[in-house]
Amino acid sequence: MNFVLHGASVSAGITIGHAHLVSTARLEVGHYAIAEDAVEDEIARFNVAVGRVRDEFAAIESHIPPGSPAEFGALINVHRMILEDSTLSQVPQDLVRERRCNAEWALVQQMERLVEQFDSIDDPYLRERKADVEQVVERVLKALMGTDTPPAPQLAEEKNLIVVAHDLAPADMILFKRHHFGGFVTDVGGVTSHTAILARSLGIPALVGLHHARHMIREGELVIVDGVQGVMIVDPDPIVLNEYQLRQSQLEIERQKLKRLRTTRAATLDGTPVELFANIELPQDIAQVLEAGAQGVGLFRTEFLFMNRKDLPDEDEQFEAYRDVAQAMEGRPVVLRTLDVGADKALHGDGHVMPNPAMGLRAIRYCLAEPQMFLAQLRAILRASSYGELRILLPMLVHPHEVEQALTLLRQAKQQLDERGVPYAASIPVGGMIEIPAAALALPIFMRRLDFLSLGTNDLIQYTLAIDRADDAVAHLYDPLHPAVLQLVARTIQTANRAGTPLAVCGEMAGDLALTRLLLGFGLRNFSMHPTQLLAIKERVLKTDLAQTRTLTQRVLRSDDPGRIRELIAKLNS
Ligand code: PEP
Ligand code: MG
Repeated sequence: MNFVLHGASVSAGITIGHAHLVSTARLEVGHYAIAEDAVEDEIARFNVAVGRVRDEFAAIESHIPPGSPAEFGALINVHRMILEDSTLSQVPQDLVRERRCNAEWALVQQMERLVEQFDSIDDPYLRERKADVEQVVERVLKALMGTDTPPAPQLAEEKNLIVVAHDLAPADMILFKRHHFGGFVTDVGGVTSHTAILARSLGIPALVGLHHARHMIREGELVIVDGVQGVMIVDPDPIVLNEYQLRQSQLEIERQKLKRLRTTRAATLDGTPVELFANIELPQDIAQVLEAGAQGVGLFRTEFLFMNRKDLPDEDEQFEAYRDVAQAMEGRPVVLRTLDVGADKALHGDGHVMPNPAMGLRAIRYCLAEPQMFLAQLRAILRASSYGELRILLPMLVHPHEVEQALTLLRQAKQQLDERGVPYAASIPVGGMIEIPAAALALPIFMRRLDFLSLGTNDLIQYTLAIDRADDAVAHLYDPLHPAVLQLVARTIQTANRAGTPLAVCGEMAGDLALTRLLLGFGLRNFSMHPTQLLAIKERVLKTDLAQTRTLTQRVLRSDDPGRIRELIAKLNS
């Protein structure tokens, strides 16, 4: 039967292939009593299963494909720690003894207890770790029940299998890379989950939040995953299949054609130059940046070096990461954003409990509250500045004294390096992120004190519209085209331009093809985005008539009607 399922797109593109169902062992667990003299055997069976999962993790770790994001290794480590924790490795054994129940049942009981505790945690990042516990339990259950479901023999050789799962562990994503799966869909999961982040970095079409896909799709059924529209088509009829095959080959031709623009200078039709920079999370992302021909790194989200680990990277480890990026970029600018932790990016074991983390001790506020940690990062950046063209970017500014304090700490870090006789670029530029409406409205405060600015539209929209960007329940209200957002973005760009302060946009708006001309019309000349978006944006810039764009953009700014704004933007892009 032909039907369509809707989900949230994690990774764009179209893939067509046969479904491979990944079993959710947890749903199939039975409950039975164990005779007293069989209890120790049952516990031994449990320990054998735990041992088998331990071996699986070791095998996955030793087969991590070269060039995989460092997060892969770190996440397997997290899963290994969960497996070895006595709450999962010992307590189920106690339950088998006390209640004389089967090991599967004991394990699921213990997991439910743990999951309940996670549900009561306020911090969304820690709450997400619940999924890691469930994924580890799932693995042990599969080992206990012997239900590892390999693809059916007729599918085993197929390169384009689409994995259909209730949920997926990040560790499974590594197997995707080795087995060249074509895509994946899951019933649960948010677009900000670790699995989603890893899928994006693998570049395979993926959807999450399909709710009932695991139960509605049969093994081996032909499916289409459309990551562009966020839909999955099951058992498509020949006309739809044909249409999608065409679209798929068109997308591939377009992708190949775009590669030719790699070394083309970005400029509008009248020759106005436009700078296109890339955003990265980890030093490994540099390969993609170079492949896209970016003019520099406009945003290095350094906090990802601090996540998924128990300890914090020390000054030396950070220095090496920053130096590697600086060297790889061979003199092109690299903007390192200082630690933007807090909100949905909490550090492991962080004791700060906040009633409203998005508005709490986040980003620069956190760094100023932890000066030793901040100083270590500043020293690491300064040391790396001898190896390339580095710039420092301070996140989430709102008060002038935050800039003053950060600059004081930077002077202190320089002095500490002077005492150690370590070289650094003494005049390293310092910029600030404008991502709170108050900062956008009071821009001169920051222009006076800083060398450059970067507009973080993701947070600017969140704080302007009072929409938590990580909350699925209000995601439909998150709107970059809200008249208030457009006024604020346009005004910020124009104020910086008039004062001659360099300003980039590094939020998701910069990589949104539908908004390129609008931002050019506002006067933006520096965009920073995920490297995979860069060449498409360059193509749009190259085809832009700036004079015409400016006229339409003025009309967008004069309108307060969302429908009319959308019409004008469609015209701008036609
Ligand atoms: C932003 O807020 O737009 C931004 C670029 O920073 P992040 O998405 O990391 O908060
Ligand atoms: Mg931000």
